Amino acid sequence: MKRMIFATGNENKMKEIREILGALPLEILSMKEAGIQADIVEDGKTFEENAIIKAKSAAEFTGLPALADDSGLCVDALDGAPGIYSARYCEGTDEDRNAFLLKNMQDKENRACRFVCAIACVLADGETLTVRGECEGTLLRENHGAGGFGYDPLFYVEKYGCTFGELPAEIKNTISHRANALNKLKAILKDKVN
Ligand code: IMP
Repeated sequence: MKRMIFATGNENKMKEIREILGALPLEILSMKEAGIQADIVEDGKTFEENAIIKAKSAAEFTGLPALADDSGLCVDALDGAPGIYSARYCEGTDEDRNAFLLKNMQDKENRACRFVCAIACVLADGETLTVRGECEGTLLRENHGAGGFGYDPLFYVEKYGCTFGELPAEIKNTISHRANALNKLKAILKDKVN
């Protein structure tokens, strides 16, 4: 079975990717499982650029094909912010960042926003491809729910009438930006790894 690295330190992401790509003849390893510890500087200007930087570094470090993702929340009324800076929108905790976002959105009527996830894949022959998944939502004016992480308690999903912070993980993981991107990747890899 072919081996491929997923450049993440996040166990939940490893679980999700193994579930979604499980039907492919691929053994997916984390950097840790491949015995590599590396700090990769993400200095791209888009989600795709950052994902490519991480996937290429992982492929170079390990000598194996590699995947990497980059994700964040884009708010229309803030011209797409926090975007690629979602994890470091302000210092402190997720709660601090949610409070900062609410402050910046205080006088905004347009609450449309979306989670975005880009996944880059560097194949054995060096071919590099990216896919993008998105999930549309509405930014609430206060937190709802204690599940999930990051901006989940502010992200209201019309179809389910609740936030990502209130939605069971099993459902979030079928409709999320990451799930959408992984499903697109699966369709492409199906023809490449057989
Ligand atoms: P990363 O790409 O996993 O490093 O995520 C970047 C940042 O985007 C996270 O630190 C969160 O602030 C935000 N983010 C990405 N995906 C989600 C999500 O599913 N829920 C909530 N916040 C997210």
